[in-house]
Amino acid sequence: MSHQHIEQLRRLDADHHLHPFTDNAALAKKGTRILTRGEGVYVYDQDGHKLLDAFAGLWCVNLGYGRRELAEAASKQMNELAYYNSFFQCTTEPTVRLAAKLAELAPGALNHVFFAGSGSEANDTILRLVRHYWAVQGRPEKFIFIGRQNGYHGSTVAGASLGGMGAMHKQGGLPIPGIEHIAAPYWFGEGGELSAEEFGRQRALALEAKILELGAENVAAFIAEPIQGAAGVIIPPDSYWPEINRICKQYQVLLIADEVICGFGRTGQWFGSQTFGIEPDLMAVAKGLTSGYLPLGAVLISDPVAEVLAGQGGELAHGYTYSGHPVCCAVALESLRILQDERIVERCADDTGPYLAERWRALGEHPLVGEARICGMVGALELVPRKPSRAFFADRGRVGGLCRDIALEEGLILRATWDAMLLSPPLVISRSEIDELAEKTWRALDRTEKAIAEAI
Ligand SMILES: *Cc1c(COP(=O)(O)O)cnc(C)c1O
Repeated sequence: MSHQHIEQLRRLDADHHLHPFTDNAALAKKGTRILTRGEGVYVYDQDGHKLLDAFAGLWCVNLGYGRRELAEAASKQMNELAYYNSFFQCTTEPTVRLAAKLAELAPGALNHVFFAGSGSEANDTILRLVRHYWAVQGRPEKFIFIGRQNGYHGSTVAGASLGGMGAMHKQGGLPIPGIEHIAAPYWFGEGGELSAEEFGRQRALALEAKILELGAENVAAFIAEPIQGAAGVIIPPDSYWPEINRICKQYQVLLIADEVICGFGRTGQWFGSQTFGIEPDLMAVAKGLTSGYLPLGAVLISDPVAEVLAGQGGELAHGYTYSGHPVCCAVALESLRILQDERIVERCADDTGPYLAERWRALGEHPLVGEARICGMVGALELVPRKPSRAFFADRGRVGGLCRDIALEEGLILRATWDAMLLSPPLVISRSEIDELAEKTWRALDRTEKAIAEAI
C-alpha cells in the first residue's frame, strides 16, 4: 500500500470505526494496523511486513490463511442458495449435514445442535435454553448460573454476565441477575504454597460450597472453559475437572463446557472435554468451527436435555435470522472435512504439538519467564520480575504489552493478557515454523528484558 493509501484508511478508521476492546482515542492518535493478506501461518500488514501469526487471528484460524477449498465452498453455496432461514419449518442441506456432523464428532450424548452466529450468541442461547429446561419440568426456581472469575463467554449481555471479567461488568450494568462467580483454578497466580493438585481440588470444591450457599434447588448450571483462554490460558490442574463432574452430578446442576477456543483440535484432541475428561450436558462452539473464515456458533445439547426441550418445551421462542446460515454451514463442513482428511488433530497430538511443547517449555529458561505452560496448541508464558518467585510485576500489564509490541517488531504476533504472553497458532503450523516462532519469542524476551533494565 502507498503511504497515501495507508494514511487515508487510517484517517477514515479514526473518524468512523469504533474498534472492540480498544482505547479508541489512543488508537486514533497512533493509527490502526491494516492487515492485507494471509497465507498459511503468515499475515501481511500495510507495509508488506510478514508476520507469523502465533495467535491464529483470535484463536480461530486453525487451518491457516488462504485455504482455497473454504473459499470455494462458500462460493458454491452462495451461488446455489445464499440464504434461507430455519424458522418456518424449513432448513437447507448444509445446515442439516453440519448438525449431523457435529453430533458425530462431539463426545458423549451431545447429539443435538442449535445454531447461532457466534460464541457469544451460543452462550446467550444456553442461558435461555437451560432456564427453560428447568422451568418446563416444574422447577423455574432452578435459575442461577455459576461462572468463574475472569472466565470469558463473549460480549453480549448474557455472555459478558456469565463471564467474570471485571472491566466488562463495569460497563452496561452487568452482570444481569441470577449469575454468580467462583474463583478460577489459576495456580500460578493464586496457588500460594499449595501443590497444583491440592489447589485444583480446592478450587473445584469452591463450586460445591457456592451451590450449598445458594441452595442446589436454585442452581441451574455451571459454565466454564476447559482451559480459560482470555484470562491468560489457565490450564487447570488434573484434579480440577473430575471433581467438577462429581459436584454437578451430585447436585443436579447442568455442566456447560464453553469450547469456543478448545473445540476442534486446539488441546490435542477434538474437544477440550476429551482432554480433561469433562462430561458436559451442553457445549458452546464457534471460532475453529469455520476456522474463522465465516462467523458461526453452535450449542451442542445432550440427548436428555434435548428430549425435555423438544418434548415438553412447546414452541422454542428463540432464534437468530442467521441460525444455520447455509453458507457458514457449508464452510464449516469443509473446514471439518479438511481437519479429518488431513488428520490435523492427530498430527497436533502426535507430532507438532509435542514439538511445540518442547520448544515452548524451553522458553521457561529465560530469566523473564516464571512459567511456560502449554496444552496441545495453546499456551502461555508468565513474565515475572524475580523468578522463581511467582509474584507479579507491580504495574501489571506494562511488561506484557511491551513484549507484545517488541514481538511484533520481530515479525511475530503474540497476545498479552496482563503479563502473560499467549500462544494459539494455526493448527497447521509446521516444525520449521515452530522453530521460527520459538526463536522470535526468545529474541522478544531478550529485548523486553533489556528495555526493562534500561527503564530502571
Ligand atoms: C471468543 C470466545 C467467546 C465469544 O465468541 P464470539 O464469537 O466472539 O462471540 C465465548 N467463549 C469463549 C471461551 C471465547 O474464547
